[in-house]
Amino acid sequence: MPHVTLLTTGGTIASRRDPATGHVVASVSAEDLRAALHDPLDDIPLKVESFANVGSYAIDLPTSFALAQRINTLLEDPDCLGVVVTHGTDTLEESCYLADLLLRSEKPVVFTGAQRSADEPDTDGPRNIADSIRLAGAPAARGLGAMICFEQEFHAARDVSKTHASRTDTFHSYEHGKLGEIDGTDVYVMRRPALRRTYTPERVEPAIDLVTMAMGSDGRALRHALADGMKAVVIQGFGRGNTPPAVTAAATELIAAGMPVVMTTRCPRGRVRPIYGNGGGKTLAEAGVIFAGDLSGVKARLLLAVLLGAGFTGEALRREIEEVGS
Ligand code: ASP
Repeated sequence: MPHVTLLTTGGTIASRRDPATGHVVASVSAEDLRAALHDPLDDIPLKVESFANVGSYAIDLPTSFALAQRINTLLEDPDCLGVVVTHGTDTLEESCYLADLLLRSEKPVVFTGAQRSADEPDTDGPRNIADSIRLAGAPAARGLGAMICFEQEFHAARDVSKTHASRTDTFHSYEHGKLGEIDGTDVYVMRRPALRRTYTPERVEPAIDLVTMAMGSDGRALRHALADGMKAVVIQGFGRGNTPPAVTAAATELIAAGMPVVMTTRCPRGRVRPIYGNGGGKTLAEAGVIFAGDLSGVKARLLLAVLLGAGFTGEALRREIEEVGS
């Protein structure tokens, strides 16, 4: 029978306060998440499956890779219309983008979560799950890739970010905008993502550091990455993709040692571009730093994890990052 599969991983949406410790912890079962839905969803049969029950701050790259593989396996069932994944919001955009890069189907994959835990009277979880099931079952959502659905909006995996620590309207795609919205039981697709690319690596490379610049940062973090055997570094630089001179010198050493170094911006909007000399972005680009367009630091790290896992190196790696980063 045609159905949507609800795959649960934990997060605030599945959390309650433990009266013994006072800690809010993921503990609500997949079946209880289904039972809490207010929307009867009579027209969309639902299967539920538990993948994990943890806060998403505890999910690592191999676990997120296994989640993406499970999604692909579920979508192979011809009766599965789409998959909804419940997940903590802290790393929701990361698991969503990784699943998008690895997706082997045109069927919709919808990630959702909540900012208010399951035991709060005004929890946002049940509404977000119901909206996500409607989206996963909608023929119009085919080909949109993995998405985040939250607060009645849905967003492309590549573009969406968590922008507020606690409010329920936290997910935005900045100037790219949302893909569409859910109004009652209706799904409205307003645009389709143009920059999706997918890959089929056997593994992803987890040994990639993300280093954010602050005024006066030095080169220690980059040199440690090399000494510790990391396979690549992503820098969240200033503005258009600049670093302090000491970091530029360290980045040059890493590249000379054969390590890919990728530049993103610590600004929430806009793209990196090599412009400035005297140690700035132009100097970095001439040394071999790869500029990742307007991909965020965490998204560039995931793209790199997939590309290194798929065996990309040298110019092919650079071209792919520049084209997907755009
Ligand atoms: N604040 C988080 C959430 O929304 C905790 C986590 O990421 O699991 O679920």
